[in-house]
Formats: sequence, structure tokens, C-alpha cells
Amino acid sequence: MQITEIYKSLQGESTHAGLACVFVRLTGCNLRCSWCDSEYTFQGGRKMALEEVLAEVSRLSPGGGLVEITGGEPMLQEREVVPLMPRLLNDGYKVLLETSGERPLGRVPANVIKIVDVKCPDSAEADTFCVENLETLSPHDEIKFVLSSRADYDFARQFTHRHNLAERVNAVLFSPALRKDATGARDSSHCLLDPQELAEWMIADDVPARLGLQLHKFIWDPALKGV
Ligand code: SF4
Repeated sequence: MQITEIYKSLQGESTHAGLACVFVRLTGCNLRCSWCDSEYTFQGGRKMALEEVLAEVSRLSPGGGLVEITGGEPMLQEREVVPLMPRLLNDGYKVLLETSGERPLGRVPANVIKIVDVKCPDSAEADTFCVENLETLSPHDEIKFVLSSRADYDFARQFTHRHNLAERVNAVLFSPALRKDATGARDSSHCLLDPQELAEWMIADDVPARLGLQLHKFIWDPALKGV
């Protein structure tokens, strides 16, 4: 499979935020979100065999722990990446799959925790979510909306209610988008939507969702890759 990087850091998002995690970042994405901070994954990378990926994960985190398969969009390499998942599970890892939600997820093993984006209107990739993926969700999975405006928030809130998401998954995450050129200060000044404003909307509306901040952007320089 084509890999941009494999590294160990802290998980910055989802209900697993704050835990040490090995990231297996695959190359390539078919979307172009307006706030994407992973454009360096669109091209390049290097071909790695499944056994090489397993060996690198084991070197970074021998004896288990958390592994996230991400990108880019990892499910564009479904034929290669799906067989990696049971191997990681068999080796004792807890496996997260971070995906844009645009590719079908029916072949993802049930024990993998899917963290599935639903793209909002201001992402420039609205309406790309594969609605059939709702039927693949398990109670341990998570759904994420990255928000950059009130219109995004209203979309996410309505989508959450219409599809009863809080009943289907472990967590519904509302996360402010960051400016993709964010650098320097490790604070919320880079957020396209003020987290305080978002928090106040969520409290006022009793939204069955959890506010998520990208923890790694508050620990390291937001421009830093591989963390
Ligand atoms: S799906 Fe992810 S990697 Fe692809 S453009 Fe959007 S944010 Fe970037």
C-alpha cells in the first residue's frame, strides 16, 4: 500500500484523545476539503508491503496499544488496507479507522472502531457522505463533523437528529475547523469557528454531541507534521 508516514504521537481527536497512538497514514485523497491540513498526503509516499507496515507498528509500539489508520483517505486503498486490519487486531492492537465517509465501509472488520466524517456545507465537499455507511455503524464507532460556520453547525445538528446518530454510535463529535495555514500560537485563535461560540450553541440546543478540539494543535505548533 502507498504510505505517507507511520509515526507515534498522542491521539488528538475522538474519545481516544490524549492516548499514545501509532498513526498509519495512507497516501491519496479524492476530496479537497477547504480547510484540509493533510494536503501533503495527496501525492508521494512510498509503497510498503503489509508485513513491513506491521513490523513498523510493532517497532513503534511493541506489545499492543492504539493504532489509527488514516490519510488522506485510507479506504481508497481498500484492497490493501482491509487485510491489514485483522492482522493488527490479532496482534493485540486497538484499531481506529479515520475516514471521510465517502467510500463504502461495509468490508471494515466489526472490531475496528470507525471514526467517520460527515462533510458539512462549508467544507466544499458537502453531499459526499455515503448514506449507506450509516448501516455499517456499530455502538463503538464515532461520527465527526468539522465545522467552520453557523451553517455547518445547523447542518450537523439537523443531520444528527434526522439520523438518530446519538443512538447509533459511541460519540457524535462537533469539532471546529482550523485554518490550514495555522502556525505559531498553540491556542484557539486559529479556529475558523470560535470554540466558545460553538460550545454556547451546543449548550443552548442540548445537542447530543461532544465538542472536540484537536488536542495536538494545542500541544505542538499547529503547522508541525508527524505529531
Ligand atoms: S477528506 Fe481528509 S484528507 Fe481528504 S481533503 Fe478532506 S480533510 Fe483532507
